[in-house]
Amino acid sequence: MSCTCCTQPPKSANSSEKDPFYVHTSTVFDSLSCQFLTDVSFKVDPTTGLITQVLHSGSDLQVSSTDIDLRGKIVMPGFVDAHTHIFLHSYDEADNAKQKRDESFVERVIRATNHCRTALMAGYTTYRDLGSEGMQEADANFRDAINRGIAVGPRLFVATKVLASVAGIKTHTENTIGGTRMPVTSEECDGEDEIRKAVRRRIGLGCDVVKFFADYRKRIMRYPPAIPHPYVSSVMFPPENPNPDVVLYTQKEMNVICEEARNADCPVAAHCATNRGAVMAARAGANTIEHAFWCNTDTLAVLKENHCILVPTLTIAERLYGPKFPGLLAKTHEAWKMGLIQACGGDTGTFNHGENVREAELFLEAGIPLEDTLRSLTYHGWLASGGDQCGRKFGWLAEGTAADMVALDEDPRQNPKALRHVSFVMKDGRVYKKDGKQIFN
Ligand SMILES: [Zn+2]
Repeated sequence: MSCTCCTQPPKSANSSEKDPFYVHTSTVFDSLSCQFLTDVSFKVDPTTGLITQVLHSGSDLQVSSTDIDLRGKIVMPGFVDAHTHIFLHSYDEADNAKQKRDESFVERVIRATNHCRTALMAGYTTYRDLGSEGMQEADANFRDAINRGIAVGPRLFVATKVLASVAGIKTHTENTIGGTRMPVTSEECDGEDEIRKAVRRRIGLGCDVVKFFADYRKRIMRYPPAIPHPYVSSVMFPPENPNPDVVLYTQKEMNVICEEARNADCPVAAHCATNRGAVMAARAGANTIEHAFWCNTDTLAVLKENHCILVPTLTIAERLYGPKFPGLLAKTHEAWKMGLIQACGGDTGTFNHGENVREAELFLEAGIPLEDTLRSLTYHGWLASGGDQCGRKFGWLAEGTAADMVALDEDPRQNPKALRHVSFVMKDGRVYKKDGKQIFN
């Protein structure tokens, strides 16, 4: 009998469902050594959702009826998308402002429910969700609904509202007299006292990661756009760069954000497009630098020096920056050559959930070797989510890590599009997709 109000069996379910079982593989990717290993079996404890033993299976392997046999497939740790927005759907369908202004709270929650299910079916067992985009702290509530078994989706690490200085990332409108007010995206805070309070409030309201805007396209109202984001001009003869990124905080303010987050053992993500913003955020102690679209070699060196993880969000960049995009691929390749840790995170939501793997494909197109790309898609996602600050190990398969596994029907060493063909998904020792079909209610 299964519970009708949630997706997990009730606690009184047949005890045999909780017995440990084995997952047998013939080819599995080890994201720590960056190698494909052969003939490995994993013992899984479904009560804790952890791998409890790793064995090298021989030719005399006995497969019991409760085991999962993934031999013949390419098995990987569950994928991590290190930069998502569960409440957004593709800007091709509705721009950012329209989604925030016109879609009800309920519609956006229902959309997120679909997005999370789709993401899990695509192999994504973890999302680092960097900003609720006008939905207040609903991302934290959504995380909890998944963790309680009420909704199906990736394990979420959420930012709730993003910190920005006054009017920093506000969706500006020209009619301010009785006009429609847009839902607030950021928590506006300026100066040491307000910033400390804002970080403390985020922590108290349940964020897993503190995100702030080091810079943003704030001067947008000099040349008012028809669509604020993605930017579409409305005026004649705008200058070449009508909407430049400008730094939103002083160095001291960024230092305070990171210091206060550290007091709560919480990682920090910084949105940075400019060299100046990225250097300041890195020196302040941000754990991850998001985008870094226009960053040069010197800036990348500062990121490396400060042990920052770079999340280049190439998938949104591909859509926004057309002719400039090859330069962003080159920068990603340069960062890899310099030995920076990079995680795959597409800014998913600005394009549709389920298409997440485009980011890994763009890492490959940037000339990053397959094995390194797969590590960015898994283990580096754990590091970006905070590593040990996550409270759970995932992104690689070993004794004590979460039993998050996906299986591919095709070999990515032969076909770079193989990552799109996920036929099996397990998260925390529970199978959600088997033989290409979802197997939950
Ligand atoms: Zn984003």
